[in-house]
Amino acid sequence: MQGPGRFPCRLCGNVYRHLASLTQHLEVHRNQTTCIVCHTTLSRRTDLRRHMRLKHQIPWQKTIHRQRSPKSELDS
Ligand SMILES: [Zn+2]
Ligand SMILES: [Zn+2]
Repeated sequence: MQGPGRFPCRLCGNVYRHLASLTQHLEVHRNQTTCIVCHTTLSRRTDLRRHMRLKHQIPWQKTIHRQRSPKSELDS
């Protein structure tokens, strides 16, 4: 069992006190928190969901499924 403050992100070096926080943060690197409309990156998926609804009036689920097609990943 590790103590608090010992969950570093392998990708960007941010350190989190709780595994749950790190897990949540990792979604950033999976592009699960980036708005596909305006390319704003939110820190949490729940923030993105709120962002989509408030800024673009777009339901969350539909948008993400459209984004995650294999073709669009090759384009970038
Ligand atoms: Zn990171
Ligand atoms: Zn947006």
